[in-house]
Amino acid sequence: MAAAVTLSAQGIPVTVFESAKQLGGRARGVWHNDTQLDNGQHILLGCYRETLRLIQQVGGNIENDFLRLPLQLTLHQQFELKAPPLPAPLHLLIGLLTAKGLSLAQRLFAVRFMLAMRRINFTLPHDITVLELLRAYKQDEEMVRLLWEPLCISALNTPIHKASAQVLLHVLRDSLNGLRSNSDMLLPRLNLSALFPERAAEYVRQHGGTVLTSCGVEAIVQHDKEIELITASGAQRFSHVICAASPAITARLFRAVPQLAPIATRIEALSFQPIYTVYLQYPEQVRLPHPMLGFDRCFTQWLFDKGQIAEQHGLIATVISAEGLHQELEHEQLAQKVAQELREQLGIMEAPLWHRVIAEKRATFSCEPSLPRPTHSTPLTSVLLAGDYTAGDYPATLEGAVMSGTRCADMISRHT
Ligand SMILES: Cc1cc2nc3c(=O)[nH]c(=O)nc-3n(C[C@H](O)[C@H](O)[C@H](O)COP(=O)(O)OP(=O)(O)OC[C@H]3O[C@@H](n4cnc5c(N)ncnc54)[C@H](O)[C@@H]3O)c2cc1C
Repeated sequence: MAAAVTLSAQGIPVTVFESAKQLGGRARGVWHNDTQLDNGQHILLGCYRETLRLIQQVGGNIENDFLRLPLQLTLHQQFELKAPPLPAPLHLLIGLLTAKGLSLAQRLFAVRFMLAMRRINFTLPHDITVLELLRAYKQDEEMVRLLWEPLCISALNTPIHKASAQVLLHVLRDSLNGLRSNSDMLLPRLNLSALFPERAAEYVRQHGGTVLTSCGVEAIVQHDKEIELITASGAQRFSHVICAASPAITARLFRAVPQLAPIATRIEALSFQPIYTVYLQYPEQVRLPHPMLGFDRCFTQWLFDKGQIAEQHGLIATVISAEGLHQELEHEQLAQKVAQELREQLGIMEAPLWHRVIAEKRATFSCEPSLPRPTHSTPLTSVLLAGDYTAGDYPATLEGAVMSGTRCADMISRHT
């Protein structure tokens, strides 16, 4: 949709094929009876420039559409980092120095680490794992557990012993090192389909384009100067195609085209990490001490109070990112475990009225060191590749996906 909006804005007509009934992909709204949920609680950062710009371009209003929280990381009763209203990076450095839950020596090591990363311009000579980087800079186990591990898992959705230090540094560079607002956390007040893809579809239609849902592409066929797309309702030819399907589907479509088969092989080499979102609906008066809160040494990693965020009172979204023991539990057991943790940690004695577990087993690619991610261009100049897993500085995020789309659109508009 990012590519479609960008091309439409330049007067280039587009047709969007979406196999699902609904737009949004992994970042879409989901109904549970009459409650609007998302296919996973999402959080955006103030540094997601392209995503925020596009949301505005299609009619959104960032201050109305999001609850904006200045950088604050709270692990219930264990750790709190609260950035004061000072220019970046002072806000972070003072935030680290005054963090609760770490000794003065630990806080100084954390500040030294950030200053050292600034000195090397957040660029490593060669990529290593996050754990290796933290050890090299003497971040002890407790600091890793309370500060760096929660940050890494929420940013990269990959455990620290596997995660790419270079990609984490890109995120730290963009979120913590520029303007203070770059580190703001933005929690959507609207469901994710309404936030961007539905508005984007309206924008594309108003600019003369077509958006087709329940219309998956079944094959890509190369002709002399055009590319043909085969769908259940027929075949259509185009001057250019941007393939923005999920990695598995893209690999299947590319495998059948000899020039694109090597890219299919590269995509098939990626491995994936899960994200589980457990929604618990409590009576309306139940609320968390903060809109967003972390737990230490629990199955539950982050909790979001949808009452404070989106007026959905009593609805708590809990997030468990990356691989782990939680995957061994049945959904019912996991929901009970999370409710038990809320009871033990926060004293929420009420039983949830209902729960819903959304398990995305292949939520994002596993963001490992020096991963060879496929580029946006392909051996066929008229076929381009977009998606959160394509080459770029970012891990699998909305911003990575959006940037890949706008980049493909720019590559096409330069040649038309
Ligand atoms: C549970 C969860 C939580 C997340 N949390 C965050 C977060 O907090 N912050 C953040 O920035 N990111 C988060 N992400 C990552 C983010 O959702 C993704 O990076 C982003 O949505 C990927 O977008 P995409 O366009 O690359 O792929 P997708 O969203 O997977 O889109 C691919 C689209 O292609 C369609 N499609 C598939 N096959 C075909 C076909 N043959 N023809 C036509 N269409 C087809 C699919 O239906 C889908 O709509 C999260 C992801 C998950 C799953």
